[in-house]
Amino acid sequence: MPSEKDAARTVCFFAAASFPTVICPDFGSLCREIGAGAGAALVTAEVLAKDVAGALLQTLQNEPPWSSFPLIVLTREGQDRQRLLSLPHLNATLVERPVRVATLRSVVEAALRHRRQQYQNRDMLINLAQQAEELRQAKAELEHANEDLDRRVRERTVKLRETITELEAFSYSISHDLRAPLRAMQGYSEALLSEKADHLDAEGKHYLERIHRAAGRLDLLIQDVLAYSRLSQGDVQLTRIPLEMFFKELLYGYPEVTEKLKIDLHSPMPSVIGHEAYLSQCVSNLLQNAAKFSRAGVPPKVLIRTEQAGGWVRIWFEDNGIGIAPEHHTQIFQIFGRVYGDKQFEGTGIGLAIVRKAAERMGGKVGVLSELGKGSRFWLSLKKADE
Ligand code: ADP
Repeated sequence: MPSEKDAARTVCFFAAASFPTVICPDFGSLCREIGAGAGAALVTAEVLAKDVAGALLQTLQNEPPWSSFPLIVLTREGQDRQRLLSLPHLNATLVERPVRVATLRSVVEAALRHRRQQYQNRDMLINLAQQAEELRQAKAELEHANEDLDRRVRERTVKLRETITELEAFSYSISHDLRAPLRAMQGYSEALLSEKADHLDAEGKHYLERIHRAAGRLDLLIQDVLAYSRLSQGDVQLTRIPLEMFFKELLYGYPEVTEKLKIDLHSPMPSVIGHEAYLSQCVSNLLQNAAKFSRAGVPPKVLIRTEQAGGWVRIWFEDNGIGIAPEHHTQIFQIFGRVYGDKQFEGTGIGLAIVRKAAERMGGKVGVLSELGKGSRFWLSLKKADE
């Protein structure tokens, strides 16, 4: 805002220096130019001292935060420079008159560079804001997708549980109903063998014996399936079980196994959190296996000992039997996961599946360490109880 002659001279000078220049005869037009994207303004200190300068300050105050409009103020010796510099929202460079052309040119160039930098910063800010918005949207979409996934998983889990419960009830009732005709087969074949043996030749007796044995095997199988499906029913009440007393009582009333198997119990033993019936079933199945899968000519024996770590008690059952090749270690805990045929070792293939399920129902785990021919070390982990 130099005016008149000075203004015309200034415009000529800037045109020669290739700076497009506009003369603003009043503050209103200067403010409009600033709004339209002017790079810098050149004003005299006298003009700024007038009351109307308030309009300019108001305009600059309303600029967005990234903006600090460069003002080049031409002063004269003796003017109050300090007052000009302390005006709020003023990014002013003071140049004292008379001004040398080269000085003015470099001051204007610096102001324009500064203004260009501000625009670049603004673009960067807009870019960052856009990226932040995109991120926010992506996050919202992800959260929505997660909620949707959670809901679908919950629905499927409920359905799956219903199906499992139905299946278990079905297998339980089927197994239960199967036992009645089976008992009839066993009973009548027994009666025929004992009461009508005179009417049968050797081949007839042999066939009848096979029917009787097969019915017995099927009955065992059904009993195991029943035991397995019974494990899934209802809630389990877990209690504190002092292991040493538990083992002593169990083995005392269990001659079927203790007569065939030498059992070495390592005391003292801690107490665990479990379910007595489930734990008895686990131990009985593991001991029966230790007795059954023995090496020819080697009297079977098992060592029962405990180990404690991090609030858990691991009960080990270490036998001197035939051992299990590592590739069978997972399969044997599945239902019907047998390694040998019925001719070599009788069984149903459900015993260890029962052990696994019972352990899980007690909040525990089972596993085995073994190599073929080197005995097996089965373990059962349960939460330790306070003594
Ligand atoms: P079953 O004893 O009726 O065959 P299990 O589920 O109890 O069924 O055992 C599955 C398989 O795991 C057995 O068939 C056997 O091959 C293997 N197994 C289990 N216990 C032992 C053991 N103590 N020593 C060697 N093999 C074993």
